[in-house]
Amino acid sequence: MSRLLLAANWKMHLDLTTAQELTSEVASMLNAEAVSAPVVLCAPAPMLQAVAHLAKEHQGLHVGGQNLHAEKQGAFTGEISGEMIRSVGARYVIVGHSERRQYFGEDDALLARKVSRALDAGLTPIFCLGETLAEREAGQTEAVAERQLRGGLYHLSAADVAQVVIAYEPVWAIGTGKTASPEQAQAVHAFLRGLLTQQYGAAVAEGLSLLYGGSVKGSNAGELFAQADIDGGLVGGASLQSREFVTIAKALK
Ligand code: PGA
Repeated sequence: MSRLLLAANWKMHLDLTTAQELTSEVASMLNAEAVSAPVVLCAPAPMLQAVAHLAKEHQGLHVGGQNLHAEKQGAFTGEISGEMIRSVGARYVIVGHSERRQYFGEDDALLARKVSRALDAGLTPIFCLGETLAEREAGQTEAVAERQLRGGLYHLSAADVAQVVIAYEPVWAIGTGKTASPEQAQAVHAFLRGLLTQQYGAAVAEGLSLLYGGSVKGSNAGELFAQADIDGGLVGGASLQSREFVTIAKALK
C-alpha cells in the first residue's frame, strides 16, 4: 500500500461556516485535480461532524480530530474521547502535537496512553514528535526524536504500530516560516525509519507513513516529498487556504 498521506491541522481556527466552505472547496479542487492520495482534515471538535459530511464529496478525503482524552469515558468535564471523535465520522486523530506537549504539559507517558486509546477507538493516530531549536543547536535532534518515539510508541505490538502515522515536526519550523531543508528533514526521517526497523522489522518500518510538518507550503512541498523517507506532510497555516493546500496535495507523488 502507498505510504503517501497529507494531513491538515486547522488548530484553533475557523468557525462552522468557514470550515464548511473550506472543506467544500478542498473537496472539489481535489476532484478537479484528480488527487488520489489520501488527504485528512484535522478540524476542531465542534466542526468535525459537518466537515466529515462534506468531505464525502471527494473519495480520498478524510477527517481527524486534533486531540483525545486518554480515558475511554467518564467524569472529565470538557474533554473529548476517541469514541466520540470516531462516532461523528472521523478516522484519524493527532496525538502529541508540540503545542499539546508545550502548552498542555502532555508527556511521553500520557501520549503513549492516548495512542493506545486512539487505536482502541478505531482511529489512526498521527503521532507527532520533534526537537526545539535549543535541542537542535545542542546536537540533540536524534536523541530527542528517539526518546519521543520510544516513549510514545514502543509499547505497541508490531501489528498496532503498523496502524500509526508518524509526523516529524521540528518545533522551530512550526508556524515560523522556517522550513527544515529537505536534507535536514530526510536525515531525521531516515533515522526514525532505521529505529523502527530495529524495533519492529523492515516489513513494518517500510510500510509506515512518515510525514514532515513545519511551514510546509505549495512552494516547498515538492522538494520535501521527493525525499526517500518523507511520505507526505502535516500542514498548519497553509491548510487554511484551499488553493495553497491543494497545491501541496498535488505534490504527493
Ligand atoms: P505550520 O504548522 O504548517 O503552520 O508550520 C504545522 C503543524 O503545527 O502541524
